Amino acid sequence: MVICTHLHFDHVGWNTHLVDGQWKPTFPNARYVFVDDEFNYWMAHPEQEIVDDHNGIDESVRPVAEAGLVDLVKADAKIMDEISLIPTPGHTPYHVSVLLQSNGQSALITGDTFHHPCQIAHPGWMSFDSLPEQALASRKMLLERFGGTDALIIGSHFALPAAGKLVPDGQSYKLAE
Ligand SMILES: [Zn+2]
Repeated sequence: MVICTHLHFDHVGWNTHLVDGQWKPTFPNARYVFVDDEFNYWMAHPEQEIVDDHNGIDESVRPVAEAGLVDLVKADAKIMDEISLIPTPGHTPYHVSVLLQSNGQSALITGDTFHHPCQIAHPGWMSFDSLPEQALASRKMLLERFGGTDALIIGSHFALPAAGKLVPDGQSYKLAE
């Protein structure tokens, strides 16, 4: 199973690979799980988005859909007992984070809700967010829910170590082992 937090070009690239000049699914036996609204948003070719993202859809999303490998789910879907989605809109309109829970432990793949750990300390610092106010609200929601817990927070663009816990620090939190 391949789960995408959102459909920006730098988060879908390994969905496909180039074979004889054609983009083919990298994992033909997998199901590719996308949020329905996120998928529909990008398939409608939104004009305000950058060329790289449109290329990412055409090269790395459309081919797996045409191969019949896509399962569209709601942004708060429970994928299985151990894996569920948490809506974290803002970076893209229908961005999600992925919550993993097993044997009393949990981890959260934050996608691009946070691009850099500095946004954990300063959630108001913006990055490449389509909807800045929603992105801020999503960062605050995750900090409130997971701050001070044992959940392992996994960034997608954080430098190593790319994961840690949200430890209270001043007005907010810091990422620490
Ligand atoms: Zn992104």
